[in-house]
Order: sequence, then structure tokens, then C-alpha cells
Amino acid sequence: MIRLSRIIHGRRTIGDLIKQRTKPGGEITGKYLAFSEMKNPVIFWNITGQCNLACSHCYLGAGDKSWDELSTSECCALIDDLSAAHVPLLIISGGEPLVRGDLWEILAHAQEKGIKTALSSNGTLIDRDIAGRLREAGVEYVGISLDGATAATHDRIRGIPGSFEQSLEGLRSCVSAEIPCGIRMTVTRENQHEVSPLIDLALCLSVPRFCLYWLVPSGRGSAAYRKKQITAEAATQILGELCSRAREIDPEILEILTVDAPQDSIHLLSFLEHEHSPGCGHAAALLCRQGCSCSAGERIANIDPGGDLYPCQFAQTPEFLLGNVRKTPFSVLWEGRGNSSRSFTGPAGDGCTTCLSYEYCRGGCRIRARFSHNGLGADDPLCILARRRTR
Ligand code: SF4
Ligand code: SF4
Repeated sequence: MIRLSRIIHGRRTIGDLIKQRTKPGGEITGKYLAFSEMKNPVIFWNITGQCNLACSHCYLGAGDKSWDELSTSECCALIDDLSAAHVPLLIISGGEPLVRGDLWEILAHAQEKGIKTALSSNGTLIDRDIAGRLREAGVEYVGISLDGATAATHDRIRGIPGSFEQSLEGLRSCVSAEIPCGIRMTVTRENQHEVSPLIDLALCLSVPRFCLYWLVPSGRGSAAYRKKQITAEAATQILGELCSRAREIDPEILEILTVDAPQDSIHLLSFLEHEHSPGCGHAAALLCRQGCSCSAGERIANIDPGGDLYPCQFAQTPEFLLGNVRKTPFSVLWEGRGNSSRSFTGPAGDGCTTCLSYEYCRGGCRIRARFSHNGLGADDPLCILARRRTR
């Protein structure tokens, strides 16, 4: 996750943060969770494989197969274990988590155990009542997927007519219930021209966060990958657009960030350098210190609906399986494997090994590299620097 707005605007904040973190026991607020040096991973938990939409790039392939989902009591036992393991944040996702009838029981148990929760939803089932209940249940943030700034684009990608209006209603409900929320967009060839209009829509709805996900081949996203993935040139152009929008918009009104492309940090630094920003040095120090490389298996973990544990939600294949939380507690599985066997720390591709920015980025997204070049030790095809070096 690269927090463009925070880094572009955060000259003083970044400096303060670095100082604050060098003080023993310096508290880091929830707002800066992504900057913290937490040892334990944020958990992405797909609590169900069912969904009321049919998104063409769904990384879980939700609805395609039947899952032997964890029961309510198994979910609660997992929460007990995650609480004992001091995980900093539990992101409850699906499928669509709100289709699961016992979601409220699960959230109540997490609240009782003092675990911070966030919800990743398509937003279509969130009205004012549900938004209020989510806030009461201690959910700290709701991320809602919008894959287009128009109903035509969004509904085509999400597969269900009318879903755009329903998701907008979900966002409006969260804003009105004063529960922090954000728009999550996965960028593909079908919607790459709607990035800036979606930022405008977020501003218009008073949604405080815009999160752009680059496409990673997993689930239905891998079947459609070659057709949907944008070019490295288009990704670079979009990132430039995001940096410019992040520069012009007050970060207290809208925060802009990107997910699943560590190389975005390098582009962000050249953006700051190009505009001769005095914050560039602090930004570089912070990015280096917080680690902006792939978080899989270190700062994040994923649990699928059947309890299988993976290093990241896009790595749900047998070769990356770390075990099943039904059979072995999460804490035992996590501790039982060293960082190097959980994360993707192996060599990156030829374009990366000669890259001066390798120490920050460590080779982009390994799952995209593996899919495109048939090996983990390859270049991320979405990085224009790697592309130029290997041409
Ligand atoms: S060439 Fe590799 S190491 Fe350099 S920025 Fe691109 S992905 Fe990262
Ligand atoms: S492999 Fe790393 S960069 Fe790629 S999706 Fe997973 S966490 Fe993100």
C-alpha cells in the first residue's frame, strides 16, 4: 500500500512520525497503521465465498465453487487465536461478507476480544440501518468497491444491472452514519479512463479515501488477465494522474493511495523529485524504513472461507498454502514458518536486479511476475522500469 496523499503532503507529519517512532514507546495512531513497524500481520479474511454480484475479475472467484466455510463457532475460535496473537487489524471480506447471516455474531465476538475490524464490501447491502449497526459493532472502516464512475461501466464489470446505484447508496449510508469509508477501484482496460472521474465522485459524495488496486491474476482475475490488464505505460500514466490529484486535493478531505504495486513508491519519489519537493528526503527515508516492498507473508496474511492460510489474498494456490486454521491455530502456523518461507523474498527478474531502486521495491508484485513469466523470480510486467531494462 503506497499512501500517495500522506507522503506528498506529509512533510511535517512524516518528519514527526520518524522522530516519534524513534522515541521508545512512541505511540502510533490508527491513522498511520500502514506506517507502523508492526511485527504481526494484518489479516485479510474471506469469511464467505458467496456473493450477490458476479465481478469479472474477482480474485476469490466468489460464487464459482461451493466452500466448506468455517462455522460460527470456528470463526469465533479463530478470533480468539488472532486476538492472542495480537493481530493489529482484521479485514473482513468475502465474497460479500454481508450475505453471511452470522456476520453480526462474528463482529460482536471480535469487538469483545478487542480486535480492530474493517469491512471490505461491494456496498450493495448497506443502507443507513446497516451502516449504523456496523459502527455500533466497532467496524472502523468500510471499503466499498466501485469499478467505474458510471453505471454502464461498473454494472458491466460487476455483472449485475443496478449494482452501481446500490453501491453509491452504501457509500452515502456510511458517510451519513459517520463510519470512515473509501472507494476501492480495480483498474483494468475497461475502466482505465475513469480513474479521475471516480476521484471526483468520491469528492462529491464526501468519501474520505480513494484506493486504487492494480489487477493481480487470481481467481476470475487470472482467467481474464491478459484481456484485462493494462500496459505498463498506462499504469505509469495513471500513477502520474494520481500523484497530481493527490497533490491538488487536501488529504484531510480525500486520501489517495495505491495497492499491490511496490514500484509505485519509486514513481512517487520521482514525482517529488521532479517538483523539487523539500519532503523528498523524508519520503525516501520513510518509505525505506516502513518497507514499501511486497507485504505478503510478513505484514499481511490471508485466510480463505475454508480456513486455508496464505501469504496474501492473491496467492491462493497450493504452492503457497501455509496450512489450515481448522487443524492448526493461526499463531502456530505463522510462528512455525520463518519469514523467508512465508514471504516472497527470492530473487526478482533481470530488470530488477540492476535497478537502483531495488532496496525500496524488491521487485514489484511476485504474483504478477509469476503469472506473466511463469516464475516467481521474474519481472513485474506492470513496472515500466523493468520493461525498459529487459527490452
Ligand atoms: S525494476 Fe523491479 S525493483 Fe525496480 S522499480 Fe521496477 S519492479 Fe521495482
Ligand atoms: S504478492 Fe505482494 S504485491 Fe502482489 S498482491 Fe500479494 S502482497 Fe501485493
